[in-house]
Amino acid sequence: MEELRKIVEGSDCVLIGIGREFAYNVLSQEVMKIFSEKKKAEGLEKEAEWLLPFIKSYGCIYDKPEVILKAYDNLYQLIKGKNYFVVTLNEDEQIGKSKLEKEKITAPCGSIYRLQCSCGCEESIIDATTVVEEVISKLKQPEVTISEITKPVCGKCGKELVFNTVEAEKYLESGYMKSWEKYRMWLTGTLNRKVCLLELGVDFKYPSIIRWAFEKVAFINEKAVFVRINGAYPQLTEGLKGKAYSYHKNSVEFFQ
Ligand SMILES: [Zn+2]
Repeated sequence: MEELRKIVEGSDCVLIGIGREFAYNVLSQEVMKIFSEKKKAEGLEKEAEWLLPFIKSYGCIYDKPEVILKAYDNLYQLIKGKNYFVVTLNEDEQIGKSKLEKEKITAPCGSIYRLQCSCGCEESIIDATTVVEEVISKLKQPEVTISEITKPVCGKCGKELVFNTVEAEKYLESGYMKSWEKYRMWLTGTLNRKVCLLELGVDFKYPSIIRWAFEKVAFINEKAVFVRINGAYPQLTEGLKGKAYSYHKNSVEFFQ
């Protein structure tokens, strides 16, 4: 950590890339128990599975995953006062519970806090909070069966709503485009400046967003310093020799 602090201090700006090591994937045990019992009692199989992302979203909205939130806060302590930007591959929105400024974050894989039409109709993106709350509160009511819970639908065409994440068959990228454009502008401003690229727990899923993109920025910018913290894939490419550091440790653990 001390070494990393010095690297950050010596930089003009910091670009942070956050990968799946920071992802919050825990489904609420309480809600899952209700879900499984009702599903079994009604003899349902796949027909009930549309509820799972809603249960996940519910957890992301209300839970406080201590270890992850502590890692975000310590990351914030490291870079506060610096000119920074964050790109995250996570859809869980836990980063929004930290002190990192929302205006300096882009999440191109989408958000579990937003819903969109499954057929991808334009401008169908809505805030998910109320809908998720309604669905889960129905699920929690003992007298309501799963079959009685109606699937939330698009106000325009009546088709099913899905979460506005990259897993959606017709993913609406307009959900994150504004922040992405802000990021591209910010990145342009780092040319010829001492930029520290801090890549945390990024694997090879969607490598063009962070993994390869950051390597390329570090390669082109002579004043760049590249830092990779990763429990599974800490390897560095040859081209970054002399300007890159790698810590073979899970990035969330690193920031405890
Ligand atoms: Zn629609």
